[in-house]
Order: sequence, then C-alpha cells, then structure tokens
Amino acid sequence: MSLPPLREVIAAHGLSASKALGQNFLFDEQLLDRIAAIPGDLQGKAVLEIGPGPGGLTRALLRAGARVTAIEMDRRCLPALGELAEAFPGQLRVVEGDALKIDHGDLMGEPFAVVANLPYNVGTALFTRWLDGEKWPPQWTSLTLMFQLEVAQRIVARPDSSAYGRLAVLAQWRSSAKLAMKVHRSAFTPPPKVMSAIVHVTPGTAPENVSATRLGKLTEAAFGQRRKMLRQSLKSIHGAVEALEQIGIDPTRRAETLSVEDFIALARALQA
Ligand code: SAM
Repeated sequence: MSLPPLREVIAAHGLSASKALGQNFLFDEQLLDRIAAIPGDLQGKAVLEIGPGPGGLTRALLRAGARVTAIEMDRRCLPALGELAEAFPGQLRVVEGDALKIDHGDLMGEPFAVVANLPYNVGTALFTRWLDGEKWPPQWTSLTLMFQLEVAQRIVARPDSSAYGRLAVLAQWRSSAKLAMKVHRSAFTPPPKVMSAIVHVTPGTAPENVSATRLGKLTEAAFGQRRKMLRQSLKSIHGAVEALEQIGIDPTRRAETLSVEDFIALARALQA
C-alpha cells in the first residue's frame, strides 16, 4: 500500500516540531525498519508505542506485522495517525493522552513489547516505572527505547565507571540491558544537540528474597553520596553497614565499586 512520504504528511497536517513536547522526528524508513527489527519478529505481536508523532516508527512497526497501540499526547498528530490506521486495517489503535498517566497493563490486556522514541525526561520516568515494582516478570516482554547516548550508557554501565549508578542497577538486577544501536543526531528533524542510542531490555529471573523497594532505597543512599565510603553513605539505612560486613564487603569501598550482584546480596542480607 502506498503512503505519502512522512515529510508530506507533516506539511499537510502542519506538524511543525514542538520543542515543549520534545519532538524530534525520524524520517529515514530504512533506519526506522532497523529500529522496528530490534525486538525480534513482531508479526501478530502486541506492541505499545509511546509518542508516535507523525507515525514514522509506527509505520515501520505496522510493516513488521505488529498490532500497535500508540499513545500520543499531541492532538495535532491524530489525523495523520488516523490515516495510518486506515492504511493498516485492524492493526493500529491510537490513544490520545499522557503516557505517564495511563496504566499500560490495563490498556494492553495481554503481554506486549514496548517501542518508543521519546523525549528524554518522559523516557527516563517511564523507564523507571516499567522496571520498578515487586511484580516480576512484568507484563511487557521487552523495551526498545531511544535515549540520549549519555543516558543509554548509564543504563548499560558496568561497575567502576562514572556512568555506573542507580539506573544501571535498576536496569540490570533482574533484566538484561543492551545498547542496540547508536543514532546520529542528524537522523532527526530537527536534530537534537546530542547523540542518541537505542537500549533494548528484556526481563530475566528476579533473584529470590530481594524486594525492589529495598534495593531501590539502598542504591539511592549509596549513589546519592557516591564519592563517600559505603559506611558513611549507607548510615541512614538501619543495619546496612553490619550487613556489608556480614557478606564480606569492605565498608570503606564506594558505591561504584559494587557489582549488581553485590547490591543484590546486600539487599538480601538486610532483609534476612
Ligand atoms: N515517534 C516519532 C518519531 O520517531 O519520529 C516521534 C518522536 S518525538 C521524539 C516524541 C513524541 O512523543 C512526540 O510526538 C510527542 O508529542 C510525544 N510525547 C511527548 N510526551 C509524551 C507523553 N507524556 N505521552 C505521550 N506522548 C508524548
């Protein structure tokens, strides 16, 4: 089926990119097809796309055979997305609203893959939400998300690096997180100031007897004062310094030297 080029869609619907909504659009169909291929075979699969905008990535997901639910808060984009829904009958459901205020599990009602090119602040807020909580495995089967390169590097960071911190532990303690693709700033219209990258996350097995809330509090305290020794930064958490010694971690070490497994062991020891 032939759809007008995205640039024409933008012109026809007057979709000038809004800075306030963090709009940087992708038009390169080959690049979009490569992004849509990252989660694997999407034929017949349920996909949640956040922020479809004029629908470039949406088209790629539909071409891959996905059943897409797309949440967009910019009403100006709805007519263009409506045309896309007509071109792919029964494959696209568009929901108008703020993705931060919608319960994605209720909306989808089945397991789903998430694919999104989002503004930085919304992306990080949603990412944290998807990875938080005690319920595991989650209803989503994978997350394929565009971030600023610097944020993507923090998500996949290993210990003993300046990028390693709360985001890395959150993304890695019961999931696997990979940097799937770097995307040059010139690929976007308008180009953002910094480079971007796509992170792909799949859920793994949650370690037993570790609560997400407890682990979150530990990493918040430890990395909140990352330059300090753990015996100082973890002072506010009752029993944490004793737990460190119990599992054989020297309390004079600093947070960034602890592996994800060390944090898991610490949370477990504290809980016992
Ligand atoms: N997916 C398109 C692409 O790749 O060309 C557009 C990407 S643009 C970076 C981000 C999109 O997210 C915009 O269309 C914007 O209106 C939308 N958006 C921003 N905040 C949102 C939110 N809280 N909920 C839903 N959509 C949002």
